[in-house]
Amino acid sequence: MNRDLPATDETYMGLALQQARAAMAQGEVPVGAVVVCDGQVVAVGHNCPVGGHDPSAHAEMQALRAAAQALGNYRLPECELYVTLEPCVMCAGAIMHARIRRVVYGAMDPKTGACGSVVDLFAEPRLNHHAEVIGGVMRDECVGILQTFFSERRAAAKARRLSAAAEATEEPPTQTPGSTN
Ligand SMILES: [Zn+2]
Repeated sequence: MNRDLPATDETYMGLALQQARAAMAQGEVPVGAVVVCDGQVVAVGHNCPVGGHDPSAHAEMQALRAAAQALGNYRLPECELYVTLEPCVMCAGAIMHARIRRVVYGAMDPKTGACGSVVDLFAEPRLNHHAEVIGGVMRDECVGILQTFFSERRAAAKARRLSAAAEATEEPPTQTPGSTN
């Protein structure tokens, strides 16, 4: 980070992308988040539901929990949340409970996005909290890391299938001599 320049949405999204890379290094779908208060990063989080055996361990949830602990308050009305992927319904709910002021995300999520892709909870007037939501910040980088992860995973699965098929043709089933069963 260049200290001479004021931090921008891209600055914080870059930090969220670092968290996404940390998730990928652990074999998790690469999504990362940071919580910022008055220009200071107060918490970070990355997606880890597989390793944590926790369906709620999305990047936003991890970052919100850490921010609330760091600030000693479950409400975070002065905070902004940066996340590389559009929040889902669960995370949108947690963002509302935390009274997050502003949400900035990178890639859209056409399967579970709750900021306009599938539903738009932040535009629902019957819900009593309305964070400002901005999408598409560093979208190419945020989409790119997800595409890399899924293409590598598909390639690895294909390699496993090919190697299993090769073993099956190279080693025909053998009968154990002397087996009485
Ligand atoms: Zn989520």
